[in-house]
Parts: sequence; structure tokens; C-alpha cells
Amino acid sequence: MYKILIACYGQETNTFNPMTTKLEAFGDPEKFLESADFSRLRGTNAAFYEVLSKRTDVQVIPGLYAWAQPWGRCERSAHEHIKGELLRLCRQEERIDAVLLSLHGAMALDDDDDAEGDLLAALRAELGEGTPIAAILDLHANITEKMLKNANILINYHTCPHIDADQRGREAAALLLDTLDGKIRPLMQARKLPLLCEFLPSAHPVINGFQQQCRQFEQEPGVLSVSIAYGFFCADIYESGVCILAITDQNAQQGQSILRRIGDDIWQQRQSLLREYVDLDYAIDQALAQPELYPVVFADCWDNPGGGAPGDNTHILRRLLERRVKGALIAYMRSPETVAQAEKAGVGACIEVSIGGKFFPELCGAAIKKKAWVKSLSNGVYDPPGKLSRDFRRIGKLAALIIDDMYVIVSSGFAQTWSEEGIRACGIDPASCSIIVVKSSVHFRHAFEKIAGRIYDVEVPGKSEQKIANLNFVNCKRPIFPLDPMEG
Ligand SMILES: [Zn+2]
Repeated sequence: MYKILIACYGQETNTFNPMTTKLEAFGDPEKFLESADFSRLRGTNAAFYEVLSKRTDVQVIPGLYAWAQPWGRCERSAHEHIKGELLRLCRQEERIDAVLLSLHGAMALDDDDDAEGDLLAALRAELGEGTPIAAILDLHANITEKMLKNANILINYHTCPHIDADQRGREAAALLLDTLDGKIRPLMQARKLPLLCEFLPSAHPVINGFQQQCRQFEQEPGVLSVSIAYGFFCADIYESGVCILAITDQNAQQGQSILRRIGDDIWQQRQSLLREYVDLDYAIDQALAQPELYPVVFADCWDNPGGGAPGDNTHILRRLLERRVKGALIAYMRSPETVAQAEKAGVGACIEVSIGGKFFPELCGAAIKKKAWVKSLSNGVYDPPGKLSRDFRRIGKLAALIIDDMYVIVSSGFAQTWSEEGIRACGIDPASCSIIVVKSSVHFRHAFEKIAGRIYDVEVPGKSEQKIANLNFVNCKRPIFPLDPMEG
């Protein structure tokens, strides 16, 4: 009987956001353990559970579920609490044969840049060298030496939007079981590139080419997994950057060759990895000139709660109101006070609202004070399409308001705009809108590409910076592209 501990713990840390992430951001600490009912979760976690529980010779030890929204550095005490719970679970069992984790890979603490490395090292110290440790990481993980040293199997998501959590979870669970069965002996090798990468969808032709290359290598006999972590550049840490992972069945030469070929390819094409954005007024002009394309989507990339921004940036809302654009909609503006106010007043009521300006108003815009009609209220419960885990449902309650000639959906919680379901939950047909503003930089595309006549990635000042050149890096290892001129 194999006893396998599974757990889900993570956050993506934007170190340029000076506010800290507290324990409560990971959920109710009292419920970390009971919320780890992996049979009820989705994505990676459900996939782990499903694959493992099919085997009669596996006993799943459900660990904990603690996941926080991207924000500033995590408090050391919160990390120690969660790590401590996992170590306690390990000690409670007479033995643990393997560990399978769902992590992010770009989590930093207030006193340590490498939360995942610290966790994996602690598990390794507790369980010893002979216990396989596997983890699934986000595509935007910043993989560190410590993580590589203390894990046997690390696999990154392959897609952005991240819609392959389920497949990657299955893959990791299967590799772990094969390892325990003695069918394979995974050898993980990595190549880090001195390269910070902007947030590109995997449909981008260059990125798609790299991903196809990985899939082709995986067809070679003896190759167990090949993945690329593009890094999270809003983390100014020494080890920020792109990392390629190759796992072979103890074939170091094969692994090296894969890393060399993919790494050289990425390096040669690095100039094409810089994204382009459009000016807000240009996007509005373009949209108004082509109503046949409605609804068009404006991605408020710089206010992406999925990248550590607050989700209450007012620049786009203000300009749409100033320009009296009719039929536009914003999904969503984080404003718990306004949701409470709308609930109290009820549907049909007219209220005086103050939206935004609660976080970093100098950068993200001052509050917008307006008269608003409450069109509808929603408890925010909806199922995003695809196999997404439940942390993407942290949007909370919603209130759809009519301000001048547009809809503004305010939310009590905050999460990036993954789908149009929250708009529908408010009784609004997205197809009836002219412009839909989403608070997301890439992930919205999975759902919105199906309904949008055109998408504009809009540049306005905000906290989830999209351009590497705009950030003031102090800690990351230099030289690094695109900050430094680099030959070759
Ligand atoms: Zn990501």
C-alpha cells in the first residue's frame, strides 16, 4: 500500500505590490484541512485524486487546500503555519511514500524570495531522499535551484490561459505512480535562461512553436515530460526568469540535448516575446468606428487581479464615462462597499456610489463618484467554463449598476475575469454590449475570444505591470534580457 500525501498551496507574488498577503487570504485557516476534499475540487487537485484513488493499493492522505489571490509578499508566519500543518500531517502518519503537490512556483515571502523552495526543502528534510516529491506548477513559475534540488518531478502548465490543469495533474500523478512501481526512475534537468518574458498567450505563434517542440520531444522513448516555465516577471527576485524542464528516464544526455535545443530556440527568438498594447483612446475610437464588431473586448491588462493588482483601477471607466460611450460594460470593479450598498437599497434603487480609489489611487486612479441605478444583484455563484479550480470563483457577490449609459458590475471579492458567466449571472447578455472591459491580461481569452468581434489589450497605468521595461528591477540576476543588451 502506497501512502501518498496530496496538497494544494500557493500564491503568485507581485513583489512590486508593497502590501502583504496574510494567512486569511489563503482561506479560513480552520478549514484548510477540511477544504482539502479533493474529490470535490476541480482541475489539478481533482485529477490527482481521481488518478490515485483508482488504484486499490494507494491510500491518499488528503493534505490541505490553501490558495491565495496574487498580491504582495506573503507573511512568513502564514507560510510557517501552512508548512507546519503539512509537516504535522507527515509526522502523524507512520510513513509517507510520496508527495504530490499543486503549487504556483512564484510565491515570495516577506523575508524569503522562494516560498516553494523552502516548503519542498522542509518536506525533503522530513521525508528523506528516497521519498519521491512531485509538483505541478503554474506556467508563470520562477523555478529556483532550491525547488529543483528538493523535488523529483516538476511539471508546468502548458497553456495560457491555464486550461490544462487537469491534464497536467493526471500526468504528474501517473509519473509518480510509475516511479513508486519501479517502472521509471525520473531524472529532472533544467536550463534557466537570462530572460524575463512578458505575458503571452500560448496561441502566440512563437510560444505555440516552443510548446509543439516540447510535445514532440515527449514522443521520444525515455522522455517523461518536457515543460517550460516562462516565469513571473513582476517578481523582482534573483532567480526570476524562464526555465525549461526535461524529465527523462535516467538519460542525462537526452535531457541535456532537449534543454539545449529548446533553450537555444527561445533565446534566438527572444525579441519576438515582447508584447504590444494599444492606447485607450485609440481603442475607443476603433471600437466606435466599427459597431458591426460589437461586442469588442478591452483587456485592462494593468489591473489584473490575477497578476497582483487590486481590480479597482478607474482609468478606463473614467474615460468611457467622459466620452459618453453607450452600452459599454465593466466586469468587474472590486468594491465590496458598493455591493453592500446596492444590496441594502435593492434592485431598481438609485444610489450615490464611490467606486475605486481604495488602493494606490495615484497610480490606479481616484474614486469615481456617481449616481447609479441597481440593475441586478447576484450571489456570484457560477461555474466558469473549463476545468478551473475554485479559487477562480473568488469574485464574491456581484451588483450590476447602470451609471450614465453603461453597465458597471461591482464585486465584493476580487479575481480576474475568467469568463462571461458573471455578466450573465447579472442578467446581462454580453452580446448586447458595445465594449466589454475585463480585468485580465490573458486568461479572459479562453471564454471571450468566442464572443468578441475584436480584442484590444489596453495600456493604462496600473499595478499589474505588463511591460518589463517599465519596472525598476533591483534584485534579479543581471545581465538579463530585455533589461540588458545581450549578444548572441
Ligand atoms: Zn499563470
